[in-house]
Amino acid sequence: MRIGVPKEIKSGEYRVALTPAGAAILSAAGHEVLIGPGAGEGSGFPDEAYMAEGALIAADAADVWSRAEMIMKVKEPLPEEYGYFRSGLMLFTYLHLAAAVPLARALADAGVSAVAYETIQLDNGTLPLLTPMSEVAGRMAVQIGAQFLEAFYGGRGVLLGGVPGVPPAEVIILGGGIVGTNAARIALGMGASVVILEKSTERMRYIDEVFGGRIRTLMSHSHNIAAAVRRADLLIGAVLIPGAKAPNLVPEEMVKTMKKGAVIVDVAVDQGGTIATIDRVTTHSDPIYVKHGVLHYAVANMPGAVPRTSTYALTNVTIPYALELAKAGLASAAEHNRSLAKGVNVYKGHITHPQVADAVGMPY
Ligand code: NAD
Repeated sequence: MRIGVPKEIKSGEYRVALTPAGAAILSAAGHEVLIGPGAGEGSGFPDEAYMAEGALIAADAADVWSRAEMIMKVKEPLPEEYGYFRSGLMLFTYLHLAAAVPLARALADAGVSAVAYETIQLDNGTLPLLTPMSEVAGRMAVQIGAQFLEAFYGGRGVLLGGVPGVPPAEVIILGGGIVGTNAARIALGMGASVVILEKSTERMRYIDEVFGGRIRTLMSHSHNIAAAVRRADLLIGAVLIPGAKAPNLVPEEMVKTMKKGAVIVDVAVDQGGTIATIDRVTTHSDPIYVKHGVLHYAVANMPGAVPRTSTYALTNVTIPYALELAKAGLASAAEHNRSLAKGVNVYKGHITHPQVADAVGMPY
């Protein structure tokens, strides 16, 4: 199969869907790898590094999209890429369609088959292609929050860890999954006081055990959320309902009760956000806006800021699936691999993921 890897065009996105080592693996399996010019530069991989592994360098983006049978990307296609969609094309990337109705329609109208990294799900319920990026985003959420809490950036001038004689900052995390526990780990390491609100008691037991009780857990309901949000210095949104839009757990009235200069980092913004005042996606070049005196950070591709770490972490887990798709084709690969089948969001122009269909209001 001919596999194309275009350069990412989203603002501040420096990751690439394939490393030179990944290109070597796919080439060795008999596939042709076509790389967009400069696609790997942001992650430190020059075109020559891919060529050395047997890949071809395309003339431009249009060349990659038009010649490839399967496109591997990192982020969802942007409107300027919709024109490349065509019947029979297979797309393998992060899609987050539940929060992207125009993209879902464009894929369906063009007859594309799209496999979303984020809905591939193992039998134990985990999301193996979301996990490494969630680890990155969770760890980043705290370092970003710590930075914007500094007075220079408009924050309330609080040091996460405090110092002897001065209490640490309150870090409140909504959702104790991969993002939440990774954020908690870093916040704890920086000396903050950390609370996770979860709705799964099983997950809270796990958190209690692995952190040896050093992180407080609270049942996630509106009463507890309201009290926690009010005292937060840093509020991190990290909730996920797979394939669905994020639930709105913090209404605007609650945000109004927050301290002036507190910081919200809503990592779940890629699924529509879990805090009501997160009403837009921001970018790495302009990451913050202020509402009700609270700094809001809503970058949907946080791992793009640490592309070397992220590209390696992502491709470690995508390549085995790419190999299966390229070898067997989508229909056969999905038939033989239940986890992969759950990643199929659009098949030959039809929405095939129930929660995505529900969220975008299209037939399933
Ligand atoms: P996860 O499935 O590991 O964790 C989600 C957790 O939310 C689960 O533990 C679940 O029990 C909990 N939850 C569900 N409903 C809840 C509720 N009402 N209250 C409290 N907790 C609730 O998911 P994850 O990998 O941690 O991802 C979290 C979010 O971060 C997702 O939306 C994901 O797409 C997003 N994400 C964003 C970026 C970015 O760059 N912005 C990067 C990676 C992941």
